[in-house]
Amino acid sequence: MRIECVELIHYGIPLRVPLAVSFGVQTRREGLFAVLHAEGLTGWGECPIIEGYSYETLTTAWHVAADLLIPGLLGRDIAEPEEVEPLLRHVRGHPFARSMLEMAAWDLTAQRDGLSFARKLAAPYPEGARQRVKTGISIGIQPETGLRGVIAGYLEQGYERVKLKIKPGHDLAPARLARREFPDLKLMLDANSAYTLADVGVFQAMDDLELLMIEQPLAHDDIFEHSRLRPQIATPVCLDESIRNAHDVQVAAALAACDIVNIKTARVGGWIEGRRIHDLCLNHGLKVWIGGMVETEIGTAAKVAMAALPGVTMHSDIAVSHERFAIAVAEPFTLNADDSTVTVPTRPGLGITIDTDAIAHITLRRETFAGGSHATRA
Ligand code: MG
Repeated sequence: MRIECVELIHYGIPLRVPLAVSFGVQTRREGLFAVLHAEGLTGWGECPIIEGYSYETLTTAWHVAADLLIPGLLGRDIAEPEEVEPLLRHVRGHPFARSMLEMAAWDLTAQRDGLSFARKLAAPYPEGARQRVKTGISIGIQPETGLRGVIAGYLEQGYERVKLKIKPGHDLAPARLARREFPDLKLMLDANSAYTLADVGVFQAMDDLELLMIEQPLAHDDIFEHSRLRPQIATPVCLDESIRNAHDVQVAAALAACDIVNIKTARVGGWIEGRRIHDLCLNHGLKVWIGGMVETEIGTAAKVAMAALPGVTMHSDIAVSHERFAIAVAEPFTLNADDSTVTVPTRPGLGITIDTDAIAHITLRRETFAGGSHATRA
């Protein structure tokens, strides 16, 4: 498929409820889309950057995509996403920018093949893609007043697993409250790197709470200290920010630094690397699930494809986006309340109908790149 032109779109969507994480509060979701055009088909990719999560910002991702990655794709004949990955690898780092373009290539080639993204991604596995993927809900950093009601509300909707974000000074009390009020709840905590090894006592005090996991308790770029923390606590340790690629999984497994890995395809640079991580985790006896980056319906559809891989056995974070966004860019995913799942789209590619009027409404900036090896901007 010859890549005829590529569009970059900077979008901004108001959030219904501000999102609090350990490094700030978000009220509007901004991100990027890339659209690949080839043979009358369009493939969509999303770059769900949360500024502060890593060194990538919307400005760096736009620059890297526009000036370094897209020129190498224009005019190229591409048969499979595996051929796109090396064309993006000449840029070191910048995984969010690279994953956006790789995602668009998956959507494009899956449409050509008449396959869903999930089926195409799961092609190497005899059991194929799941039809439904288990999901939980991440409820951010919540004040203790009202926490019981917030959790009860999500359980009523049908979510089986709840993730609380914690930070120093706001950790043991909400975790204990949640456990006391909901003794059988599948409950996990995410620290987003807010602690150090000196805080081991906080985590030991959680040993009797029967948590599914504590996610990324220590530094965002650390594996070694997690290997020191893990034998001192009963709660399984999950690595999120620290796992940037399959190599990091090998290091984490060799050091016995974690029990569980959260795969975020943007963080690891795409679906091909994500699948390598999935396979490595299975080989090393590590459990995997798919994390969220507050994606739109477009990014969610691709995330669901990742979560449909057969080795993803834990609940992923596939929050249904109409709960968060004031504007939907495609038909929203809905929760199957009977089994806390989201149904995997079966139509070709992402398998959703993208609302171009909605896209126009949320577009802050749009550029089209076309031509041979040199991009011309319209
Ligand atoms: Mg996390």
